[in-house]
Amino acid sequence: MALERWFRRKRPTRGDDDASPAGLWLKCSGCHAQIYRKDLAANLYVCPECAHHERMPVDARVEMLADVGSFERWSGAVEPVDALGFVDTEPYRERLTSVQQRSQRPDAIVTGAATLDGIPVALAVMDFSFLGGSMGSVVGEEIARAAERAAAEGRALISVSASGGARMQEGALSLMQMAKTTVALEALSERRLPFVSVLSDPTTGGVTASFATLGDLVVAEPGALICFAGPRVIQQTIKQDLPEGFQRSEFLLRKGMLDDVIPRSELKSRIAAFTRLLLAGIGTAGVLPAALPAAAATEPDDVADEPDDAIGHDEDEEAAVRAPAV
Ligand SMILES: [Zn+2]
Repeated sequence: MALERWFRRKRPTRGDDDASPAGLWLKCSGCHAQIYRKDLAANLYVCPECAHHERMPVDARVEMLADVGSFERWSGAVEPVDALGFVDTEPYRERLTSVQQRSQRPDAIVTGAATLDGIPVALAVMDFSFLGGSMGSVVGEEIARAAERAAAEGRALISVSASGGARMQEGALSLMQMAKTTVALEALSERRLPFVSVLSDPTTGGVTASFATLGDLVVAEPGALICFAGPRVIQQTIKQDLPEGFQRSEFLLRKGMLDDVIPRSELKSRIAAFTRLLLAGIGTAGVLPAALPAAAATEPDDVADEPDDAIGHDEDEEAAVRAPAV
């Protein structure tokens, strides 16, 4: 009996969560298995039981992509302002202050220079835990600066999106970031430097509708929600059942919106291979190599079977411009 109690005491339990602010155990949102937090982190935040890709903290993401010791931070010099004096359930200014203190960064993005498998790149990684990764003036500015600096320094740009869309609290100013980031990418295009956009869960709203889907290659992590307006909004609007897996990476790959879906464990090596291919094409004939890997092959019967997107894109866009998602 005493022995049994001893084992019970030593074993970490949900009750031990209090010792660590984030908890020792997590429940996988895919298979609901209890996973020890350290095991999850060691497995790149992919569930060891079912391979569900959990959202990955920004620092871990940078560490995963950048070669050891190569990352040099660019972002952090620009602070968000509350230009509209916006108040919802709490003032925007207070909301910002508390999330800035928690995350130790001024806004929902980290950019910087690094080498990725030896290739000089600029990284732009969004932080979903910072106000839903929403794109306000600072996020837009940091992406624009990263693109322009990458072009000036001859680096490929690799972005990892995780965002609920435009930042509601900055109103029209946040919508302007869509145009700003798009224009900034032109600098890379002019220098014929590759831009690889990685979409992680979730990538939505104004981020999907601007820089995130403008990559020379647009790839996603498995199971990521990628959309403009979310499935619930669409379902309520059209009052029809949506197909299985609607707006998830694998569905969008079949529909031709993505170039590939890449498991996180292979992300770095595959990005490196793609970037090398793109750079080699630019270096020789000034065009892409004729034969890119056929990883993004679509399944024609699938495309034929399903009805064409029943969603009026124009209506969606108008709706989202009226009420940008956060
Ligand atoms: Zn799982």
